[in-house]
Amino acid sequence: MISAVELNGVSQVYVNRKGTFTALKDIDLTIRPGEFVTLIGPSGCGKTTLLSLISGLLPPTSGTIRILGEEIRKPTAKVGYMLQQDYLFPWRTIDENASIGLELLGRLNEHTRSSVLALLDEMGLSDQVDRYPHQLSGGMRQRVALVRTLAPEPDILLLDEPFSALDYQTKLQLEDLVAQTLKARKKTAVLVTHDISEAIAMSDRIIVLRPNPGRVLAEVEVPEAIRRALPLKAREEHGFHELFHYLWGLFEQMDKRGGNKSGAE
Ligand code: ADP
Ligand code: MG
Repeated sequence: MISAVELNGVSQVYVNRKGTFTALKDIDLTIRPGEFVTLIGPSGCGKTTLLSLISGLLPPTSGTIRILGEEIRKPTAKVGYMLQQDYLFPWRTIDENASIGLELLGRLNEHTRSSVLALLDEMGLSDQVDRYPHQLSGGMRQRVALVRTLAPEPDILLLDEPFSALDYQTKLQLEDLVAQTLKARKKTAVLVTHDISEAIAMSDRIIVLRPNPGRVLAEVEVPEAIRRALPLKAREEHGFHELFHYLWGLFEQMDKRGGNKSGAE
């Protein structure tokens, strides 16, 4: 079977006026089609860098990155990228914002437009289509951003802390909605979060990164019972707390080693 995402010996060195900085070193990573993988680790350990590499926006300093078997050199419609900030255009309606990816790809037509409207409806946004972003709550705007990301039908979704700016209840609701939506469509997902509970509740597998330079510290498969449950219920499943404490322990070790002074952010 072809991997959805495959990284071999990937390193990323940033160069600026202050010198060079190795953000990621020798990353090997294979993600199966339909798998939900979460990257966690302290601030600055290279999570966003890793997503930018997978998205094709950032060419790696060394190593290779394959998306569905093909080496990636620039962004492709096979990969959708959703960020913490929704970046909706204030002068465009919700409907126009949700369609922008398709528009940029030259794929906006009657058929794709009606699928955008159907997605907005599925996300509980059918009453909002003619409104503007400022008229919507943070949770609603993130749902619009999700529709915009899904509209071009990417096989792989990259999600960079998409819930972290939301209040707790909205965040839990959105976790369930995103998990359900991606699973139903058999999407492959790579989520970045600094929230250990969210990582366990949402994913099939968790990859812990450590900083300076960013490397893989540990990898855990989430127990089947937790995976089967939607994120909110998953938190009550057997094994959840054990896994939480294990991951918490890894963060504490990293703190003690002085890799991160700002805590598990
Ligand atoms: P994370 O998302 O895990 O917080 P990032 O991938 O954003 O980490 O950053 C990893 C490291 O690389 C950090 O130390 C950051 O300061 C550095 N970094 C990120 N982008 C750049 C850049 N464009 N130039 C120089 N250093 C960068
Ligand atoms: Mg980041």
